[in-house]
This record gives sequence, C-alpha cells and structure tokens, in this order.
Amino acid sequence: MELQSSVSELKGIGEQRVKRLQRLGITTIQDLLFHFPRDYEDRSNFKKIADLELGEQNTFLARISKSGETIRIKNLTFTRVELEDETGKVNAVWYNQPYLKTAFSIGEEYIFFGKLQKKYGKQEVVSPQYEKVEAGKAKGSIVPIYPIGEGLSQKIFRGFIQGIFQELKQPVTEFLPDWIRKKYLLCERNFAMYHIHFPADEDSFFMARRRLVFEEFFLLQAALLQVKSILHQNKQGIVIKNPDSFQEIQDYLPFSMTDAQKRVLQEIKEDVTSGKVMNRLVQGDVGSGKTAIAMAAAYCIIKEGLQVAMMAPTEVLAEQHYHSFCSLFQPLGIKTVLLSGSLKSKEKKEVLNAIALGEAQMIVGTHAVIQKNVVYAHLGLVITDEQHRFGVRQREMLFQKGESPHVLVMTATPIPRTLALILYGDLDISIIDELPPGRQKIDTIAVTTKYRERIHKFIKKHVEEGRQAYIVCPMIEESDKLEVEAVTTYAERLKQEIFLEDEIACVHGGMKAEEKQKIMQAFAKGDIKILVATTVIEVGIHVPNAVIMLIENAERFGLAQLHQLRGRVGRGTEKSYCILINESKSKIAKERMKVMEDSGDGFVISEMDLKLRGPGEFFGTKQHGLPDLKIGNLYRDMDILKQAQEAAQLFLANNDNHEEKERVQQEMKLVWKEQTLSI
Ligand code: ADP
Ligand code: MG
Repeated sequence: MELQSSVSELKGIGEQRVKRLQRLGITTIQDLLFHFPRDYEDRSNFKKIADLELGEQNTFLARISKSGETIRIKNLTFTRVELEDETGKVNAVWYNQPYLKTAFSIGEEYIFFGKLQKKYGKQEVVSPQYEKVEAGKAKGSIVPIYPIGEGLSQKIFRGFIQGIFQELKQPVTEFLPDWIRKKYLLCERNFAMYHIHFPADEDSFFMARRRLVFEEFFLLQAALLQVKSILHQNKQGIVIKNPDSFQEIQDYLPFSMTDAQKRVLQEIKEDVTSGKVMNRLVQGDVGSGKTAIAMAAAYCIIKEGLQVAMMAPTEVLAEQHYHSFCSLFQPLGIKTVLLSGSLKSKEKKEVLNAIALGEAQMIVGTHAVIQKNVVYAHLGLVITDEQHRFGVRQREMLFQKGESPHVLVMTATPIPRTLALILYGDLDISIIDELPPGRQKIDTIAVTTKYRERIHKFIKKHVEEGRQAYIVCPMIEESDKLEVEAVTTYAERLKQEIFLEDEIACVHGGMKAEEKQKIMQAFAKGDIKILVATTVIEVGIHVPNAVIMLIENAERFGLAQLHQLRGRVGRGTEKSYCILINESKSKIAKERMKVMEDSGDGFVISEMDLKLRGPGEFFGTKQHGLPDLKIGNLYRDMDILKQAQEAAQLFLANNDNHEEKERVQQEMKLVWKEQTLSI
C-alpha cells in the first residue's frame, strides 16, 4: 500500500464502503489521510462511576463485574453487562447485539464512552463505545470526529485511518526544508499527520494543526509566487506611445466615467506607459462598469496598432461583450470579432485568418481564444473577465500568446483588501468603489414560503406590463440530477398554475452549452419572459428589461452570491425588485436576509456574511477560485498565512537547492491534483 493506492486496498473495506468514501471525494489513501477531523471528543479524562452524569456522554474506566446476559422482550433483545470501579457499579446495555453476551469476561478492564440514561427507574449506560485496555495501564484518548455524512460510522472511518498508520508507519514525506521548520517552529510532517488524527494531548494537536495549516498556505503562496515570476520575469512591457488616447476614448463612451472609473483608468495608463508589463486586477461590484474600463484600455492598445483579446467564462457572456464592443468600436473603424466554440468551421476559419493577419483588432471569446490554433499577429493586451472562473494556467496561456502582452483581470468578487493582497499576490489591484449615477436601489425583501403565490402573481403582473423576471431555484449541492429535477418541475408547475407555456423557460447546468445559449438569447431578446434557473445566470448577463429576481431557498446561498444574483436586475430605468424566500427560521438566516434588505454594497455584504456565517463557510465555497483548503482558514489563521507567505518568498528567492524545490513542486501536484489555482 502506498499513498496513491486506492482505498480498496484497506483491510476490511468492501465495495459499498469504497463507494461511500467516493461520495466524500475520497478515492486514494492520500485522500483519506487528508480528510481531517472536524472535531474531537475528549475521552482522556476518566470519570469515576459515582460521578457519571445523567444525560451526558461520559468516559470512564471500569472492570467487568458480571458477564453479559441477554434479555428478550418481544422482538427486542438487549445485552446487559455489569461494570464496577472502586466508587460503585453501573450497568451497560446494548440493543440487538446478542453477540456481545460473550464478548466480555469478568475482570477485564475497558474504557467506556456513552450516555447515562434513566430507564424504568434505573440508571444505565446505553450502547457505549468501548475499548479494551490492559489492566492498570489505561490511557485515555482524544477521539477524532470526521465529516462523513450518512452510511459510514465514525468508528469504521477511524479504523480506516488507523489502518493506514499501521500499514505505513510514516505515510507522508517531509518536504519542508529543516531551516524553514526551525525558523517557524514547525513539527515534522508525519508527527503532524498522526496527531491531527489522533492527538496525544492538546499541545500535540495544536502543533500538528499549525504545521499542516502552514504547509497548506506555504504551497499556495509558493504556487502564486511562481506564477508571478513566470508572468513577470523582468520582461520589457510594451510602452504606449500615444497616451492621449486615454482621454480620447472617454469622449466616445456614451456616458461620462465615474471618478472611480477614471482613477482605475489612470492606474492602467501608468502601467502601460511605465515599461513594465501590466498585471492588474480590477475589482468592482456588479454594475460598477468594469466593461467600460476594459473597452477604454482596449481602445488605447488598439490605437497603437496592437491586438486585444478578451476572454469571458461563458458563451453568453462572450457574445454580450462582443455586442457591446461592436457598438462602440464599429463607428470608430475598429474591427471586432467573436471567437466562440459554436462557430461553424468556415466562419471560424475566416475569423482565425483575420486574427493571424492582424485585421481583427479586438478579439472577444471564451476559452477558444487560448486554443493552439489561434495565432495572433501582435497581441498587446489580454483581458479576462470574471477571472475567478479561470485557472492561473489559462491566464498564463493567454499571456503566452503574445510577446509579453499587458494583462488585465476583472472580478466582481469582493474580498477585503488585506486578504486580497495575499491571495492575489501576483497582481496589482484597482478597486472601482462607486456605481454609475442614477442607479436606482433595488428593493429587496425577504419573505417566508407563505408568500410564494402572491409573489408569482406579482411577477405575472409585471410580465403583463412587458417586463421580465428571473427565478433562481434552490441550490442542491449533493446532486446535479436533483438540481435539474428541481428546476424543471418548478418551471412546469408555474406553467400549469399561472404563466403561459411559451413565456417561461429554464436553464440549468445539465444542459448542453448550445441549448443553454439559445434560451439565454431568447430571454435577452425578450421572447421568453421568465427564466427559471440554477445559479448558471450568476455571471455577467445583462438584460435591462428584467426587473424581478426571485430567489428560492435564499438562506442556502452566500450573501456575496445573492448580491451577484441581485445585480442581474436594476439594469434599466424601471424599478426593480429582489425577493428572497427564506425557508429557515434560524436567527442567523434572518439576520443575513436583513443584511441583503439593508445594504446594496458588495463589500459591506461580504464582510457581514463573514461575521454572521464565519469564515469556514464563507470560504468553503468556490467563489474565490482558491483550491479547496483542507485545514487552513484564511481568516482565523491569518498569522500563519503571513508567515507562510514570508517563508515561501525566502524559499523561492534564496534557494539553489534543486532537490528541495523539486520536492515542493511534487507536493503541489499531489495536493491539488488536477485542480488549478484560479487566482
Ligand atoms: P460590471 O462591472 O458588472 O461588468 P458593466 O460594465 O456591465 O458592469 O456595466 C453595467 C452597466 O452600466 C452597463 O450598461 C454600462 O453601460 C453602464 N455604465 C458603466 N459605466 C457607466 C457610467 N460611468 N455611467 C453610466 N453608465 C455606466
Ligand atoms: Mg461584467
């Protein structure tokens, strides 16, 4: 057995259990080892029998004083064993496990862990867990509790992990050099791995956790720094010769830029006139006008006789950008092309040709823009929109399509600044912290399910007045299939009960891209009035005539995500509404809904979400494009994060030890597998 072996090599594991583990994302021994406990039970302090507390889980050490008897009442059997210590006696009972009758012998010593309950006037410890100890040598333990869901018991899961340590005494390989471990006071890796699962005591737990958090952050930071050096490598940046175009473009835009937009544009101007390669992240709330920034920057580069490529995460979004760019650029004589996966081969050929010859000046597309067959004549700027959907590698690929083109990344994901500096370590950051004027506030209200019918009528009324609406269905995390079902049944029901057949359509992740696109286009044109969707609509779609956003099971979403969804309405001149159906009665859920009702500011909302839900869940989602962190917590472990960042810098800067570097590389691959860093 080795780390990369399948879990099926574990002792006592059947096909069923292999499947159950798979559901938890565990297929290899390594996965299992990195499936850390979510909590621990302290069974290291033994109580005396006389001190056992009624209704509580108790850990105690006792001798078998009367061996088992099995009692049968109707179809229930239970096995009773009498236990004693120097302070008294107590019975333990187990239901329907008759084989326990012969499992215990008088005089043997066990550690028991179970609840003391009163049954028929007598106190008994009910179905305790037990562990045999050599008489007089009992040592209690801190027992891990794993996040495992249904179908597996803690005991069995724990047994798997124990099995690994029995089979492979030192399952992991140290990859941090000694000097880092000394400098940052970190324990050895195998020690950490063992004690995170089976801490000997509190101290060893803290040591173990600190080490593992550190290594996780270290790998993350080292990966980021590497990307940075690939992207920067002292390359000479293209210098803009005609900076006046930054002023010029503002006259062509149909609106005047906000102060925040002007400031960001100024920062971009400084970058592209500096001789360095620009590598800038523009962070701005939904609707803050990031596209205008992209257009302005693109214009200035194109005026230099260079090409600009913009990559969007979805076909729909790419198409939308294409139209926006066309409407601005066409009158200015700038040729814009759309490069999408759904082009017919003849069209595609033409487009590729135009790109290669340099006739196409502005290239908008999806991943298609980084494919091998795309050859640019002279790429000056690459822009990625909603970049948290892209991996670093993709950004790198786009970058390598040209001779050190400038790079601009756009994201609506609000992250507090200090954190952003660490996470987006390889990028300079600009923030658009102002919305264009005249944006009306979107009326947001949170309601219970009782109001659902009334809300449907409310939507109906607006549809009759010619408006459109989105309905976002409950998020079902466990299964895509269930999610598809939920969306389609919801849409069906609405058709039967209230809306006309052809007014309503649904989109979900299970659809083919083409199909999805067709519906989105129909919705954008106004042919479809109501779009029932999963969160696929989250990114960037712009339909000014849509005025209602109804979100079912709003309590299941992150607030930042709700905010993004809400940003789909309020894009025209009509009054817009966001209605959140909250099915939870919990106080926190209500408070979170209240935040949505009260605030329209993405940064405030994400800070509040953090406060209310805690960082675990906030960062548990994919919204920041980080690889899954198994143990580190970006807020609580900020100190360790800073140390790890420093260590990674030292490691990469002053280290000629090829072997050490290779080991770290190796580890990155092992830990993240095919997951890319999307920062
Ligand atoms: P996002 O930052 O979410 O990508 P967009 O760039 O799509 O936002 O802009 C949203 C809408 O606001 C667009 O219709 C755009 O034309 C408009 N807009 C952008 N900047 C301004 C501005 N300074 N004044 C008025 N409208 C603007
Ligand atoms: Mg956008």
